[in-house]
Amino acid sequence: MAKRIVIVGGGIGGMGVATTLAGKLNAEITVINKDNFYVTGPSRPLLLTGEQEYGRMLRGYEKVGEKGIKVVAGNVIRVDPDNRKITLSESGFGLTSREIQYDYLVLAPGVVYDGSSITGLDRNWWRNTTVYDPGRVNVLRQRLWSENEGTVLIYAPKAPYRCAPAPTETALLAHTVLKHRGVREKFRIIHVDANDKTQPPFIADVVKQVYEKAGIELVTNQEIVEVNEKEVITKSGERYGYTILALLEPNRAPRFVEEAGLGTPFVEVRSPQDLRHPKYDDVLAVGDAAKLPFPKNQEIAFESALFASNKILEMEGVTEKVPVQYAFVGWAYMGNLEGRLETQSLQFQLDLTTQPPKPAKDPQLKREYTLQKDRWEQAYLERLFGYSPKS
Ligand SMILES: Cc1cc2nc3c(=O)[nH]c(=O)nc-3n(C[C@H](O)[C@H](O)[C@H](O)COP(=O)(O)OP(=O)(O)OC[C@H]3O[C@@H](n4cnc5c(N)ncnc54)[C@H](O)[C@@H]3O)c2cc1C
Repeated sequence: MAKRIVIVGGGIGGMGVATTLAGKLNAEITVINKDNFYVTGPSRPLLLTGEQEYGRMLRGYEKVGEKGIKVVAGNVIRVDPDNRKITLSESGFGLTSREIQYDYLVLAPGVVYDGSSITGLDRNWWRNTTVYDPGRVNVLRQRLWSENEGTVLIYAPKAPYRCAPAPTETALLAHTVLKHRGVREKFRIIHVDANDKTQPPFIADVVKQVYEKAGIELVTNQEIVEVNEKEVITKSGERYGYTILALLEPNRAPRFVEEAGLGTPFVEVRSPQDLRHPKYDDVLAVGDAAKLPFPKNQEIAFESALFASNKILEMEGVTEKVPVQYAFVGWAYMGNLEGRLETQSLQFQLDLTTQPPKPAKDPQLKREYTLQKDRWEQAYLERLFGYSPKS
């Protein structure tokens, strides 16, 4: 009988597993995703300057369906690993609450942004925006293009959180927009960071230099614990006023993970190469939801998906394996100091096959790197979702 492989989350990790296993196994592959579309992450910050548009970031799943992968829109609310089943809640697509049985379960739901530990955020949530969410980034864009004076306050929580440089990108793209509009001198831009350096640490020296040139104030080692209608308050009692707030909440896996005893705040795995849960051979986790000793980014999500696929192939007695190792190349948007809406980027990489991991970067900011990042992102979307908007 065909094995039932159920994948929770149709993003980078989930689609990485689905598209790798399709055709290699006698299996029925079902991907469950909250929405019947996917919005890519890396280029979201460029919505702020108008250098990216939603149409190029959005993908539907129909082309994946052509490969025999079943995609179901639904919100997974419960996992029962002892009885090998999951529960979906009703979605807007005609699905009612139901249970699905599996032989293998791959958890790839990414992260939840959880600000419940920050006092007052529940009342003031609507004052906050970030580049992390497709809707909230649009509000941030609107505020940056309409406010005429004040303070832009950006916050990065303690690592690990998804996409380490995104708070820095936010600060520099805010600078770019305000400079472009001719109102930069009427604003303070403050980046408050709960870590001792901006993330990832090995590019923090370049970020510091660029911040100095852009007049961006950096405060490190300060954890925000409270938000009111006009200021944030840190653990040591410092207060910073804001007009525009871009606060990233601490990240965690969705609650069903903890409720099923699979880990907190992320899913436990045996090792980066063996992504099975320590207690269950048939439950694997990939991507940002997995507890890995690496940064949470797209390349790691995809590579972990390949390692998980190889493990399922091995357990099913298939000798074929896909080649994979942990390493990544990344580009951080550094905006444009003169206010031209042509973002320059910093390129960096980390080889995780050596101990200690080997970082490298080109300290020169280049426009070409922004274009490279775009090609890299579009290539991933084409590979995982089967098409590009123009083809
Ligand atoms: C603003 C931003 C900038 C980024 N920049 C970069 C970058 O420059 N470079 C880089 O390498 N990475 C970057 N990333 C990170 C990258 O996008 C993620 O690391 C990657 O998408 C993780 O893959 P994933 O499969 O774990 O999660 P995702 O790709 O987020 O996929 C998770 C999927 O699961 C679905 N889901 C969640 N919960 C449930 C549920 N309960 N039931 C059903 N479905 C569910 C979600 O809707 C989503 O479609 C960025 C991310 C963001 C948001």
